[in-house]
Amino acid sequence: MSDQIKYVLSEDDIPRTWYNFAADLPFMAPMLSPVTGEPVGLDGLRLSMPDGLAEQELSTEPEFEIPETVRQLYRQWRPTPLFRARRLEQTLGTPARIYFKYEGTAPTGSFKPNTAIAQAYYNKLAGKRVLIAETGAGQWGSAIAFAAPLFGLSARVFMVRVSYEQKPYRRLLMETYGAECLPSPTTTTEAGRAALEERPDHPGSLAIAKAEALQVAYADPDYGYTRGSALNSICAHQTVIGQEAIAQMALAEDYPDIVIGCAGGGSNLAGLTFPFLREQLRGGKRVRTIAVEPTACPTLTRGRIAYDHSDSARMTSLVRMHTLGHKFVPPPVHAGGLRAHNIAPLVSRAVEDGMMEAVARPQVACFEAGVMFARTEGILPAPESTHAICVAVEEARRCAQDGESRAILFGLTGHGNFDLSAYEAYFAGRLPDDAVDDEALAFGFDSIPDLSAA
Ligand SMILES: *Cc1c(COP(=O)(O)O)cnc(C)c1O
Repeated sequence: MSDQIKYVLSEDDIPRTWYNFAADLPFMAPMLSPVTGEPVGLDGLRLSMPDGLAEQELSTEPEFEIPETVRQLYRQWRPTPLFRARRLEQTLGTPARIYFKYEGTAPTGSFKPNTAIAQAYYNKLAGKRVLIAETGAGQWGSAIAFAAPLFGLSARVFMVRVSYEQKPYRRLLMETYGAECLPSPTTTTEAGRAALEERPDHPGSLAIAKAEALQVAYADPDYGYTRGSALNSICAHQTVIGQEAIAQMALAEDYPDIVIGCAGGGSNLAGLTFPFLREQLRGGKRVRTIAVEPTACPTLTRGRIAYDHSDSARMTSLVRMHTLGHKFVPPPVHAGGLRAHNIAPLVSRAVEDGMMEAVARPQVACFEAGVMFARTEGILPAPESTHAICVAVEEARRCAQDGESRAILFGLTGHGNFDLSAYEAYFAGRLPDDAVDDEALAFGFDSIPDLSAA
């Protein structure tokens, strides 16, 4: 069998800036205040986030300098490796060249510390003492639980109940780092109590957990609310992934024809693809970028483009993006990190403007591809990442059919070593194939605010 090939950069090659895709878009619809409906300016944003992050959020500068403290902390695992998956290629019998950028070498096993460390840094500068977060699969909670003590901060995490129960090891990891972890909906907040009243066995949702985290964080000036995905600033922080990948593809003396990422809130996808789109906008080679979401939470493929909140209690700003409605509750899928009803406005725009394609795949097909990947490349992928693998495999098979040798790059966002219960369910044939029903979609759409009436 041919060998896997690994492309490694040195610490000096860790990017010095984060790329802000918003700078390359002619116009972004403004965020609106949930209270007044008026555009939110810098002063408004500063009420809910540290200055450094608020400035990045509204900035149209193309680059933000990475603070030296943050860059030093990145050195623990960055630059992350990029591999050529030769054994997978051979198993597929494809002329395609398949590459993957592996973010699972981070301490918590995914790409999320790229922004968790940045957010902890800016919250520390702003004098916060406790970081508050919501988490789906537990990846974001783990990243915050890891990042907080690096800056002498503590952490409290609201974890979506279905994941809390399915993934006890993520909770234990957070507790090991010293964080406090609560299953949401809890009875400790108004938003949690409202959800439990609607449905006593509520599986929870990211939107509810977020509402709980916000209600707790806004009640105390010592608390800093942190966000796992979707914001412009977070998409920027994640561009260290794509910037490194461009340098590594150059080492491979190759350039991708297709770049694929899984889509939850959109941040890893943004981080991997936006630097390639920047090259394209500057006259570089055209790349097909593809967002892959679960059929159970089809935000980009079946959602509406509208102003909506990102939490169920309507405390967050109104943002124009693809949304299934802030009351949408997806069926419990194992890719807990892909259960968001909304997506980063920058990713939404890339899709709306035709710069990015979006597809949805059912979880059984994704696990099938994930197992094939583990058996050839030796890395157990996170359930979220299997969505990208699924479409990479499809594209590689297409190459085998039409005899074209295309270069395919996908984001392997994390390892699945804490997700073995999902693999167990897959092997036992107990994994439901999880298309969402029209009723659940209609319920979600009903919650999208009607701004024309305002
Ligand atoms: C959180 C997470 C995702 C999805 O988040 P995005 O914001 O859409 O990138 C994907 N994979 C893993 C391993 C995750 O932890």
